[in-house]
Amino acid sequence: MLRERVSDDIYVFTSEVYAQVTAGAAVYPEGAVLIDTLPFPAETRAIKDFLENRLGVRVRYIVNTHYHADHTNGNYLFPGAQVIGHRLCRQRLDTVGRRGITRAKEQSPELADVEIVLPQTLLSNGPILLHLGKKTLQLFPTPGHSPDSLSALLKEDRILFAGDMMMPLPHIVDGDLEEMVRTLQAVPGMGLENIVQGHGELVLRGEIDEAVRSNLKYLDSIRRKVEQAIKRGRPRQAMHDIDIETCGKSRIPLNGAVTQLHTANLLALYDRLST
Ligand SMILES: [Zn+2]
Repeated sequence: MLRERVSDDIYVFTSEVYAQVTAGAAVYPEGAVLIDTLPFPAETRAIKDFLENRLGVRVRYIVNTHYHADHTNGNYLFPGAQVIGHRLCRQRLDTVGRRGITRAKEQSPELADVEIVLPQTLLSNGPILLHLGKKTLQLFPTPGHSPDSLSALLKEDRILFAGDMMMPLPHIVDGDLEEMVRTLQAVPGMGLENIVQGHGELVLRGEIDEAVRSNLKYLDSIRRKVEQAIKRGRPRQAMHDIDIETCGKSRIPLNGAVTQLHTANLLALYDRLST
């Protein structure tokens, strides 16, 4: 697990074992807010150890940006914390999430202790504000990657914990392309200093507009290519031939995992647009 200090009271933790997934922490004398956890308990335990034993703060809140296991598996390691998420996050974690962790435990013995912990404080449509000393964390829906996605904005610092709404490659298999486009279009107007992506590196102020533009261009490109393939009667299998680079993205980020995400996007889009 890599640790980066983004500002006086903000830390970002990045997994070294799974797809550069991130967790963030905002640390105040009153306690810490953890935005997401990491998929494997050993790495989330290292975060807990750092916050509690090195910094001497208690984790009071966990924010789940969405229900996917790579972000929520560590909830159970903080029994004293209040878990906050979208209403749909609770619903999905309780169904899809429970089935998923049972399967995952069969593959990965290191997940044996993981227990599903559902968010108890729920966001529906409007924002939730968390007041932490002099700082305010605003939680609001940012669907597209999944229907339950939310982001957390540290208002005074203009740091956005975006969850998987921002990644080096947008991923819409469990979500919706049009929603993702609408969500991304709102980002440049937010006046941000940094974006903590759900996977990958921190996006700095001067890089934000270009990162968003590149993701929007990619989404437009895959939609047009899949529509065209369907119109020409190409089979589903042909989606494997649409190269990530012809859609304007590099195959390098996330240690190459983006190419699998890309193919999954195309197949999901093909299924949706051809019915
Ligand atoms: Zn993720």
